[in-house]
Amino acid sequence: MANVTCAHLEAITTVKHAKRRECAECVKIDAQWVHLRICQECNATLCCDDSPNRHATNHARASGHPVIASAEPGERWLYCYPDDAFAEY
Ligand SMILES: [Zn+2]
Ligand SMILES: [Zn+2]
Ligand SMILES: [Zn+2]
Repeated sequence: MANVTCAHLEAITTVKHAKRRECAECVKIDAQWVHLRICQECNATLCCDDSPNRHATNHARASGHPVIASAEPGERWLYCYPDDAFAEY
């Protein structure tokens, strides 16, 4: 994984972690998810692009919140949508 960074990722000093182990949108519609991501702007826990509903990406597009973190155990990375940048922490 390339360790490309951007102003959004550099601005993150504390990574927000998931409050619940579930996608906030999938539970409303009784859908399944694969992996979980956390919006670093509003702390929403949402599902990844391998999930049928891709709530994290939809949320980033709709809200303009740029950065997500993985909520998977053992994964420590951030991703910025507008810059397509990854950073491990
Ligand atoms: Zn960025
Ligand atoms: Zn979802
Ligand atoms: Zn958000």
